[in-house]
Amino acid sequence: MELLPTAELHIHIEGTLEPEMLVQLAARNGIELPTTDPEAIRARYRFEDLQSFLDLHYGNLRVLRTAEDFYDLAAAYLRRAAGDGVRRAEIFFDPQTHVGNGIPLAAVFDGLGAALAESASLGVSADLILCFLRDRGPQAAHEILRAALPFRDRFIGVGLDSTEVGYPPSLFRDVYAMAAAEGLHRVAHAGEEGGPDYVWEALDVLGVERVDHGIRAMEDASLVRRLREERIPLTVCPLSNVCLRTVDTLADHVLPAMLDEGLAATVNSDDPAYFGGYVGANYEALRTELGLDQTQLATLAMNSFDACFVDEAQKEVWKAEARAAVLAPGPDVAA
Ligand SMILES: [Zn+2]
Repeated sequence: MELLPTAELHIHIEGTLEPEMLVQLAARNGIELPTTDPEAIRARYRFEDLQSFLDLHYGNLRVLRTAEDFYDLAAAYLRRAAGDGVRRAEIFFDPQTHVGNGIPLAAVFDGLGAALAESASLGVSADLILCFLRDRGPQAAHEILRAALPFRDRFIGVGLDSTEVGYPPSLFRDVYAMAAAEGLHRVAHAGEEGGPDYVWEALDVLGVERVDHGIRAMEDASLVRRLREERIPLTVCPLSNVCLRTVDTLADHVLPAMLDEGLAATVNSDDPAYFGGYVGANYEALRTELGLDQTQLATLAMNSFDACFVDEAQKEVWKAEARAAVLAPGPDVAA
């Protein structure tokens, strides 16, 4: 099988900040780091849970100061994504973090937007999804959405990320209604560390079109039925789940069970600079460590294109490419 074309629908651009770029941007912006050795930085990326990752991650983001920094970050991700067979990337960004660091929203949009504008030359279609930091609460979410509306043509949807437990989706009912009224797509992280009740709320209260992670939905049979019957995509991030100890090992992951249940599961990298690899590495780990076969991997790729926020004709073009790659003779190398 040739390199498997896929879409990546759960990728935080801030989570693609590799230690090498962290060091480079810190030097450019005159920001002190505890160490400037990328390998020493990487060695600190050992996490107990989601919060231990977030604490380190937000600290690193102080190095992002200018539109050029955001451009460099997104351009590096898009180059890697193209190399992994990504045809479509719907990219999360966390403007509250940057505004909190004193960066104008325009710098964030200008930098990310400039990189996205060049992505077609790499064969990647890309758009932005603005995420609310759930641990800052609904009022702050309202404020950032209002501040971002002058840039409404630069992003296609809203999401909900950061610390999950203790911040249920229902807190964000009003701001999601406001996003819907603006014609924005709606997604939310739910069912990563939070239980199935968070997934129900994301669907019923926020009206999400996709659920990010959603792995704990598997604990609730009636929820599984709902997700299957309504073909609601789940953006699963296998290596992230292992790194943040949501599952003990990849062998314990529910992804094969999700496919057996007929759920619209997809494969994504979440915060790949921290979690051991980009989307290609996630596919490869599913193949080698979890033993998924080519039919299952192809199903995941097809699901990813079906889950994109693009028109149906474009989805069919990419799915035909994925089908051709699966049928192509050659070494059995997935994605
Ligand atoms: Zn995420």
